[in-house]
Amino acid sequence: MIEYTLKDEKATLEFGAKLAKIINESDNASLEFHLQGDLGAGKTTLVRGILSALGWHGSVKSPTYTICEEYELNQFLVLHIDLYRTEVDEDIDMLELNREHKNKKLIFIEWPEKLQGKRLCNMKIEMSHQHNSRKIELIGDTILLENLRS
Ligand code: ADP
Ligand code: MG
Repeated sequence: MIEYTLKDEKATLEFGAKLAKIINESDNASLEFHLQGDLGAGKTTLVRGILSALGWHGSVKSPTYTICEEYELNQFLVLHIDLYRTEVDEDIDMLELNREHKNKKLIFIEWPEKLQGKRLCNMKIEMSHQHNSRKIELIGDTILLENLRS
């Protein structure tokens, strides 16, 4: 497990850029990240930092109402999902997360608790309020964590 303190929004965005770097270094055809933490913990901000570092220049909306926002980058298909407003027994299959795609696929899921363990992930990221800052804890594939540390 790796743990950091992110002192402000800028630190969260910069940490997103670090994650983008290990994403770029990975050979996996698809990578899935589960983002846990209370409302306002910084999950969407982190995804915004990752997307920006991967070269997305447009806006990044929270998928709270749409459930899934999709981004097509040169190298990646990015699916950013927020299950907060979904029903526990709602069919996640509708989102076709396992679809084939010519590019590498990145899946970010906020409120993965709603999946009740139905999907595996490469990295679980937990964010929490710590005074005016945030704490971030990461567990997952050894190679991803090693690259993050180096
Ligand atoms: P979530 O998706 O977890 O509900 P958001 O990313 O939408 O959270 O919102 C997080 C809020 O906290 C935003 O207002 C953002 O500016 C702020 N924020 C993000 N990272 C930090 C941080 N490290 N320290 C303090 N505030 C932060
Ligand atoms: Mg969010």
